[in-house]
Amino acid sequence: MGYNVAIDGPAGAGKSTIAKLVAKEKGYIYVDTGAMYRALAVYFLEKGIDAKDTGQIIAAAQEADVSIRYVDGVQQVYLNGGNITSKLRTEEVGNMASMTSPIPEVRERLLELQRSLAREKDVVMDGRDIGTNILPDADVKIYLTASVETRAKRRYRELAEKGIECNYEEIAKDIQERDMRDMNRETAPLRQAEGAVLVDSSDMTVSEVVDAVVKMCQ
Ligand code: C5P
Repeated sequence: MGYNVAIDGPAGAGKSTIAKLVAKEKGYIYVDTGAMYRALAVYFLEKGIDAKDTGQIIAAAQEADVSIRYVDGVQQVYLNGGNITSKLRTEEVGNMASMTSPIPEVRERLLELQRSLAREKDVVMDGRDIGTNILPDADVKIYLTASVETRAKRRYRELAEKGIECNYEEIAKDIQERDMRDMNRETAPLRQAEGAVLVDSSDMTVSEVVDAVVKMCQ
């Protein structure tokens, strides 16, 4: 078993930023599980499947093989053999991932991939159910959150920096809807895991959060 750090929290809380920096500082591997749900979402969108058509989503999930490789320490996501990493971070893909991730068969498809990475390597893994469900025995568990306003501003900046056209109001609405879905679903809902440390990053700088997390890792 590797040394496992689990970071869960809502959309835009800064999980990936923090997880990447902690991984770099500690020499661990960063595992972005949201990217795996997004990879399945890319497949559903490419096939033109309606997110509400659960039967078709389940069937398509069985055909989609998601795998992960690391190039210079950066996670690359493969869908049926092709590298789709550059397609993952759009709002359309994020929304499709959020709408299809409650389906147990979709989650089941990614469970073993996530657990096997944590078994083999020292990881900082971020997502929604890492501390509660995927790695309940993780060495360090964090629930990272921030206000909706802070999170929407961050996501707006992130997208704008990548040159992606976006609207702040829409992003804030998306974030609230995504919180609702992620927190209220039946399977593996987003919540603070038992034993997880709550970190509210609304009024913290990135380095303050990274320092706090690094201190928790022995
Ligand atoms: O974190 P990210 O925005 O990339 O995740 C996209 C969606 O994937 C989330 O809104 C959530 O519904 C789903 N997800 C999940 N469990 C995880 C990671 C992501 O349900 N461990």
